[in-house]
Amino acid sequence: MNYQTSFMYNESMDNRRIGYLEVIAGPMYCGKTEELIRQVKRAAIGKKNIRVFKHQIDTRYGFDKKLFSHAGLSFESEMVGNACQILDMVDNKTQIVAIDEAQWFGEKLIDVIDILLNRGKHVIVAGLAMTFNRQPFTPVPTLMAMADKVTKLSAICSICGEEAVYHKRISKGKTVDPHKADPSLVGKIKNYQARCRRCYKKP
Ligand code: ADP
Ligand code: MG
Ligand code: ZN
Repeated sequence: MNYQTSFMYNESMDNRRIGYLEVIAGPMYCGKTEELIRQVKRAAIGKKNIRVFKHQIDTRYGFDKKLFSHAGLSFESEMVGNACQILDMVDNKTQIVAIDEAQWFGEKLIDVIDILLNRGKHVIVAGLAMTFNRQPFTPVPTLMAMADKVTKLSAICSICGEEAVYHKRISKGKTVDPHKADPSLVGKIKNYQARCRRCYKKP
């Protein structure tokens, strides 16, 4: 293959690049962030051009920009205040876009991801499928429906040790909207527990 044909080949490959969406979903503590970090670390080994985002509401580990898992794994990320900012920060060179805590971005994230997919990006999104009162947590269920691949994880029930598909808010005090992020509560371990179907009903 001479230089000219090799160039044309690469260019047509690029035009043919179609987007790919993977959604990693489940309750709190099920390992969503761990799985997202695993995937971006593998992509980094493959020298892919990656952008990793988290919502600025998630300051549970201080104002550190990194993604952190409950078991202490971490990966460099960028903080954004809304879904549209992701579009501004992704350019032609970006191959992989990873987004953690998708639920805090709201419905707008669906349009943003659609645009990224149309631009041929490989998008990996992690987020809560349900709120702490077991309602679908926009936009994650819609993203799961759009996805090429869904990785649905479960946690371990903190009461009986079985598989937990829910998380329950156990802290007393002020009532909070399960769909809204309360910066003082996001992900705080003492406020939420993973629960199986049987133990969800227990206090
Ligand atoms: P997520 O992002 O889904 O909230 P993380 O990836 O941050 O979860 O953390 C997953 C890790 O949390 C597990 O590997 C385990 O070490 C720890 N962990 C703590 N509590 C639980 C639980 N109830 N079930 C499963 N893992 C738990
Ligand atoms: Mg997480
Ligand atoms: Zn249980």
